[in-house]
Order: sequence, then C-alpha cells, then structure tokens
Amino acid sequence: MSEAAIWAVLEGVMDPEIPVVSVVDLGIVRDVKPDQVTITPTYSGCPVTDVIERTIREELDAVGFRDVAIKTTLSPPWTTDWISERGKEALRRYGIAPPDLAQEVVCPQCGSTDTEEVSRFGSTPCKAQWRCKACLEPFDRFKCH
Ligand SMILES: [Zn+2]
Repeated sequence: MSEAAIWAVLEGVMDPEIPVVSVVDLGIVRDVKPDQVTITPTYSGCPVTDVIERTIREELDAVGFRDVAIKTTLSPPWTTDWISERGKEALRRYGIAPPDLAQEVVCPQCGSTDTEEVSRFGSTPCKAQWRCKACLEPFDRFKCH
C-alpha cells in the first residue's frame, strides 16, 4: 500500500466522539508506513480508544488494506499540541473549546474569556463541562492531561 493511500483513508476516519474531526487532525496518527499505522490514544482510560482503533481497522479493511497493521504506542504520550490547526478550527465550529494549556478558556459561542468550570465531567469522560459567564452558554472542553 502506498503511504499516501493510507493517509487518505485515515483522513476519513472521524473521532467517534467528535464526528467533525479526523483522527489525523486530532494527532492520534503518529506514523504511517506501507504496512503499519502507528497511533497514540488521546486519553488514557478513555473508553473511545478501543473504538478508534476498531474504526481505523474497519476503514482499512473496507478498502482492502488488510495487511496494514495497527500499532498502538503510549510513548511519547498524546498531548493536545498534536491537534492540527484545522482540527482546532473544526472543534471551535463544533462548539468545543479547543484545548490550549497556555491560554485562557475561550467561550466557543461568543469568544469571551469570562468562563468557569462547572463540572469535571462533561458529556463524556474526556470532556469537562464549562460555562460562559458572558453569554451563559454551557460548553464542553477537553481535559488537558
Ligand atoms: Zn459566551
């Protein structure tokens, strides 16, 4: 298989939790070789990790790339820095505050930084529930590890 063909397949594999961002833009795909894809799960202990690997497997199988192995590596650990600019933009449009440890939490609805964490547990174990004090809209935010 050509690496470009494998990348093309992976570009079409969306994160099961965030259907607007591909596993490539999330930075999950670390390396592609003609016979192997290396992925690093986003959040350790996150229940969607298995789903992501299974989905990639199914998509590769669907186009006949059955000989391409999927290898999972935990080192170096995934960080939110690996999310591409396109991925961050898609998250913003989807209403999820892109994770950025260096910056304040910005409301994806109105852009205000007057925000507060409501709960460590959002709609999924990987997200926290936040609320904007300016427009009062709740939103999800990735937990930064
Ligand atoms: Zn707001």
